[in-house]
Amino acid sequence: MPVKADTHRPSVGAPDGARWRILDFLLAHVGETVTNEQIQAHLDATGGSIDRWHQRLSELRTDYGWTILSHRDRDDLGRGEYRLESKVPCRDARKREPIPAAVRAEVIARDKSCQAGGCRLRDGDTDPETGGIVRLVPDHVVPASDGGRSTAENLRAMCARHNTARSNLYTGGKGRKDKPNLAALMRAASRDEKRKVYASLYAHFDGKHPDEL
Ligand SMILES: [Zn+2]
Repeated sequence: MPVKADTHRPSVGAPDGARWRILDFLLAHVGETVTNEQIQAHLDATGGSIDRWHQRLSELRTDYGWTILSHRDRDDLGRGEYRLESKVPCRDARKREPIPAAVRAEVIARDKSCQAGGCRLRDGDTDPETGGIVRLVPDHVVPASDGGRSTAENLRAMCARHNTARSNLYTGGKGRKDKPNLAALMRAASRDEKRKVYASLYAHFDGKHPDEL
């Protein structure tokens, strides 16, 4: 079901109200860097906070197409800092079918851990690469941009780090496969992976074979 940006606002007191209150705050600060604390204070001041508001913020990106940048996307943003780039959501992302809450819960309960190769982090674990608490999110096996449905069969649990890396494989969005987004992938890579890529690039630019290092 397509979601239109101009019909996004539910009635007051709707259970997903926190999502729209976060969007209100970001829209009032387009182009500015805002912090975790500011969003939290806004939620507290406008009817109360909820436990997993970061997930609601993430859905504004993935399900509704708002370009909300974080430290995973931009080097000038620190952890816990966000920036809404535009007052208008991206049109492609609006075509994406939202994931029903029941399907989301089913996928996380079924998989129990991040399904990215070798990761296996579980909800509530401390991510050894970032030091943050792991929150599993549903990740499309066949990307929504390639027509993948938001069904349990086409979803798997993934930690936010791997989920974000998958959505940042290319600059210019999932449909733009001509520009690999190496910087974003390296930010999400493990220390071992970073070391290997660094060794290979170092060798290349230093004129050596990686095995000589
Ligand atoms: Zn993971």
